[in-house]
Order: sequence, then C-alpha cells, then structure tokens
Amino acid sequence: MGYCGLIVRGKSRVPVSVKKKSKVLERGPKTSNLFCGLDYHQFAKHMNLDWQVCSRARLSRDARFDGKFFIGVLTSRVYCRSICPAPTAKEKNVRYFPSAAAAAEAGFRPCLRCRPECSPGTPAWLGTSNTVSRALRLIDESALEDGGVEVLAERLGVGSRHLRRLFLRHLGATPIAVAQTRRLQFAKKLIDETRLPMTQVALASGFGCVRRFNAGIRKVYHRTPTQIRRLARQTTIFPENQYLFRLRFRPPYNWNGMLAFLAPRATPGVEVVELGSYRRSISFHGSHGYVEVSLDEGNDALAVRVQFGDPRSLFLITERIRAMFDLNADWADIVHSLRTDPVLAKRVEAEPGLRVPGCWNGFELATRAILGQQVSVKGATTLAGRLVRTFGQPFHGASGLTHLFPTPEVLAKAKLASIGLPRARADTIQALARMVCDGRISFEGIVDSADFLTRLCEIPGIGKWTAQYVAMRALREPDAFPCGDLGLLRALDLETLRELEQRGDAWRPWRAYAAMYLWSIASKSKARGTGPLSSRAPKTSLRRTASQQGVSVAV
Ligand SMILES: [Zn+2]
Repeated sequence: MGYCGLIVRGKSRVPVSVKKKSKVLERGPKTSNLFCGLDYHQFAKHMNLDWQVCSRARLSRDARFDGKFFIGVLTSRVYCRSICPAPTAKEKNVRYFPSAAAAAEAGFRPCLRCRPECSPGTPAWLGTSNTVSRALRLIDESALEDGGVEVLAERLGVGSRHLRRLFLRHLGATPIAVAQTRRLQFAKKLIDETRLPMTQVALASGFGCVRRFNAGIRKVYHRTPTQIRRLARQTTIFPENQYLFRLRFRPPYNWNGMLAFLAPRATPGVEVVELGSYRRSISFHGSHGYVEVSLDEGNDALAVRVQFGDPRSLFLITERIRAMFDLNADWADIVHSLRTDPVLAKRVEAEPGLRVPGCWNGFELATRAILGQQVSVKGATTLAGRLVRTFGQPFHGASGLTHLFPTPEVLAKAKLASIGLPRARADTIQALARMVCDGRISFEGIVDSADFLTRLCEIPGIGKWTAQYVAMRALREPDAFPCGDLGLLRALDLETLRELEQRGDAWRPWRAYAAMYLWSIASKSKARGTGPLSSRAPKTSLRRTASQQGVSVAV
C-alpha cells in the first residue's frame, strides 16, 4: 500500500474472543482503562488501520494524516496527533488508534501540546462503512441525546449490537464513547479559545452541570478547567458574544477555489465574500448572529469568528461550519480517483485541494437551486437578493449583512411572483416550503439520502439535477453528481449526458469533487472565451440543445 494511499484496510472480521471482550468494553462507564485485561495487539489487528502507514506518517509528522489516527505513547500515557511537535517516541512504545475516543478508552490522556481536540474531523469512510459515516453525521447533530444508541441504530436500520461492532471495528470505540469524546474535546476548545465563564462552557459542551463538567475535565486532563485556561494564556479580548475558533483541515485546502465558487453565488444581504473571507448572517434555534470565515494558512486551519448570543448553540454552529467548508475531507483518498482521468489529473495537479462547498441551511440551498433553474448564476443571485429583501427578516450586525434568509413558514405563504419569478418556479419553492413546514421534508437528521431525494423529486419542478445538487451540497454526499449540467459537459468537451455518466463512473465515490473541478475548468474557459465547445457551437444553440436534454447550469 502506497504511503499516500488509503489508511483504512480492507474488510476484517472481529473474532469471537474479541467480540466477547468488546461487550465488556462497551458496558462500563467511560473508564480510562477499558483495554486493560485485553491484549491490545489482538484487538488492534482487527481495527481498520494500516500500521505501517501510521508509523511513516508519525515519523514524518505528516499533516495529511492529522485526525485519521492517534498515537498513544506508553511511557507518558498521553495520546497525540500525527503532527505532534514533541520528540518522537520509539516505535515499541507507541500504540495507534483510529479515533481519539479509542485512545481515551485505552487510558491515554490527550496531549496538552498538540491538542488532539484541534485535529480535523474523522473522514467519512464511504464504501467501507456507510453506516458508520451516517451514524457519525447523526451524532454530530446530537442524535445520541435524543434516545441513545438503541434509537440511533433503529434510525440507521441496524441492530444496536451491530452498530457497536461496526464502531469498534472502524473507530475502536463505541458510539457513546465517540460522542463523549467529541463533547469533551469541544469543552477543551471553549476553555482554551474563549473566555466564556466555566458555567457556560459546561452547558455549551453538554455536561448539564458544572460539577460533572469539572469532574470530567479533571479525570481526562488531570487538571481543573481553570488551570487549563491559565495554560492557554489567552490575551485577546473579544467583544461580548463573539468567539474565535480555529477549525483544522488536512492540507492541501484550496481556499481560493472555495471562495471563487461561493462569491458569484453569494446571496446579497445574507452572504458576503470579500478580502479573502466569507461572512453570513445565521439563525439558529430562534437566535440570530453571524459567522465570518477566513484562512489561517500557517495553522492548516480556517479562522472562524462567531457572533452569537446563545453559547449553547456553539457546538452545533461549529459543526455546521465544518460541514459547510468540507473540513473533514481526506484529500489523499479523493485525489486517488480523480487522477485517473486525464482532464481532471491536470487540473488537480494545478489546483490541489478543492473542496465541495456545503451550505448553512438545507432549505436555503434547495430554494437557491430552484431559483437557479434555467437562468445564469448571475441571474439566480439577483433573484435571490430580491427574495431576501422582500421576505427576509432585517438583520444588523456586520458589514454587508442586512437580512436573514426567509424561513419556510414565510415563503410558504409569500406572494413569490411579485419579485419577478416565473410562476412554475414560484410554485416549486412554495411546495417545498410547505413540505418543510408540515414536516414531510426535513433537512436535518437525514438517514437515507436516496429516500430523502425521492421525496424531494415528488415536488413538481424538482428534477434529478436539482436533487443531485442538493445531495452534493446540503446532504454532503461525496458521490452526488448533477449529471445534467451544461458546465460539466462543456468542461469535458462532451455532447451527451450518457457520455458524461459513463466517464463519471471512474471517479466514484468522489464524483462531487470531480464536478467541482469540472465547474472550475468551465468557468475559467468561459472567462477566456476559449471553451472547448465555444469554437464549435455558439452558446445559445448549445443552451438550446442542452435544455432539450434536460441540462441545467450550476447555480
Ligand atoms: Zn502531542
């Protein structure tokens, strides 16, 4: 297996002896010695990690592997990220874990130097275990708080024992342990990176009460929250209700490519892209605020400024930002498939690290996609601006942000034709808004994307292209592919959708990333006026042919 190749090994089976012991592992509270009495090597053999890859990545402190595995050092009983600046331990003294939770469960404490809580998120193991990826997504949305593992497993259509087994195999820890570690890590981030009073930190990180929070932190870090904050030596003072987080990614990250995609699509009044940063108004659980995101290149991170009144929402806000900017993506895996295509290979070489932009809110994105049907990106943005000015709630707080995006409740009853929207498009948006209002469609807690998209397509006016675009950006499906897209055809100099579909098979399961590269090619060649098809077919005739085939243009 190549150095940059997959870190995840092929299918493995957990033997009966380990299964029995893993049940013991799962039962207890999150003790710090779950692996005691269990042969680590025996257990490790069955976790999906390639030890040689881990070892090489550790010795070279390779940032591309940050967050894909963690290193437990036996002599110090501390666990580290692959990039830890501390002197490297001898191989015989280290243990590798596929998640921070697994290292914590094995009795290792998080390193105070490399701060494992700051590592990029767990990449989605699509293809290896879709169930685990889906479960992780739901856990990020706080699924375990509404009913525990049994309910989570039921939603995923598997038994809870099976789900635990899958988690142990892929992450080395149970769903509960993974969720607890995430919460604890977020608490540590709030202690280090904000000046939020400890009572608020306890609430924001889901501990319920300060006593439990203090005990949890003490147990894991062997220090009180106040001692940890003193270590962080934070000197910057932020205005009230303002927080600055650094959210890490695995390099390369093409920030300019991300902004180049977001800028022409920014909804006036709701989103602003300027001076290398992205800013937008946000509404969450009844409170309003804004976020501003920019690149912190030296730290392989995005700097995220959040202005928001209710600190209890900070965890979910930062998780949304992570998803929106695709911070969990594992470039080493993605590039593998894209390089097989000569056109993509060239572009990938020239602009490595392009990500698939997500969205802040699924309903907003879907509405935006409908507005963009059959019109140019610029036309769609103008319409979106009008929609927001007419039906959005006014908002003041940051430069250029004047409104919040209208809610489904407002759009369900609005006279949409008044902003110059064609009747059919207005009806589609209204039908979508109504379905969201009465709960027939929800953009949160989606378990089965295919089922969700089928329901979405039942709305007159929402076709395959819109559904795939929504899947790509709102559901974060890495293999979603808006096949009937003019830009994609243009970039590859292809004539028919069939040809595009066939060509796209080689890029699975990362077709969404391929689409981003193809759009980037299309927009650049359009700007130069030398697109592969422009010499042969005038744009209007291409558009006509395209619309006969049901082709749309990326919004
Ligand atoms: Zn460390």
